[in-house]
Parts: sequence; C-alpha cells; structure tokens
Amino acid sequence: MIERGPFASGAAACTSAASVKPLGRAARLRLLRATIRRCVRCPALVKCRSQVVPGHGAAPARIAFVGLAPGRLGADRTGIPFSGDRSGELLRRMIACAGLRRLFITNVVRCNPRDARGRNRNPSAREIANCSGHLAAELALVRPRVVVCLGAVAWRELARSAAPFRPRSGAVLHSRDALLYPMYHPAYVVRGAYTPSAYARDFRRLARLCNRA
Ligand code: URA
Repeated sequence: MIERGPFASGAAACTSAASVKPLGRAARLRLLRATIRRCVRCPALVKCRSQVVPGHGAAPARIAFVGLAPGRLGADRTGIPFSGDRSGELLRRMIACAGLRRLFITNVVRCNPRDARGRNRNPSAREIANCSGHLAAELALVRPRVVVCLGAVAWRELARSAAPFRPRSGAVLHSRDALLYPMYHPAYVVRGAYTPSAYARDFRRLARLCNRA
C-alpha cells in the first residue's frame, strides 16, 4: 500500500527479512514503539524524562486521541499515555461513558517536558517538530478514521492553519487521511475551566461522528 498525506511514513516498508512476508500492523506497531523508545532527538527531554512514552492502543484503530505530552505524575511514571493522573482518569471515564472502542492514544510529544524547578512545561516548537515524525508514523500505522485533537497544540500540529481551534463548535476538519475533531484537553476540565457535563456532551457528539465515519 502506498501511503500519502500527513500520516505517511516509512513504517509500511517494514517486512520480515527471513520470510519476506509483510509484518502485520500489530508487529509493525511494536517495532515502531521500540524505535520511538530509543529516541534521543531532544537533549533537554532526554535529561528530564523518566521514560519515552509511545502511543498505545489498537492497530488498526477507529479513533486516535492526540494529547500534548506525558504528564509528570502520570504517563511519565506509567509509560502509558493518559494514565495514572487526573487528566488520564477523566479522559478514560469519558471514553467509557461514550462507548468508544478500538482506540489509539498518543501525544504530540513523547517525553515529559519539565522546567528548571521540575514542573510540567509546554514542549518547545523544536521539541514538537522533532517528535512530529513519530506521530505521523503512528497515525500511518493505526489509520484511524477520526483523530481527536486534545487541546490547541495537537490541533495546530495536525490541522496546521486550515481552521482555528474551536472545540465548542464540534466542527470537524476533513483531512486527506481522517476527520480531525477538536476537543478541550482533559486538564482544562480538571482545573474547572470547562464543565464535566459539557465535556460529556462533546464525547457523545464524538461517538455519533464515529458511528457515521
Ligand atoms: N498525559 C498524557 O499522556 N498526555 C497529556 O497531554 C496529559 C497527560
């Protein structure tokens, strides 16, 4: 299969040398995860991360969720995106309530960015650019029909300048490879800037979109 568009990567070329039989998607994802775990592109992140956190979930997937970066108290400890912290708990509860299945969950950046005092910080533009190949390779492999961008950074990374980030509108952007759906990052809800009931409504709208996609 020839892969084109923003999700295209060299991952499709992975084949078993011994049998020359193409590897299945799950095996290719395992290889990709191992490659990502060895990444040393960002010196500052190599110093502050506890581990690299590749995306996790089904391949192929129906829906991919793309967050910002592993949290200090969550994914940086557990190795699984959106787990072990309040943002992760909220996201996973919303996913379960909306009945969403065959998911892949990942981040724009795969290492936990910290400031000089050890607190979470936003990844720099350079760190985002360094990690963009990993995101493209993951999405090329899992081929989701819907990509949920959790927050403005994920939206900008995938939608580029095609549309502003307007999660309340529920307006979907049709990219060549998938539908892009803007949502608030769960941390925004955890800190009280958006209500859990409005967030649950956005997830129900997402579920309806996925049933149609
Ligand atoms: N955990 C993640 O994996 N990503 C985020 O963006 C926040 C918490």
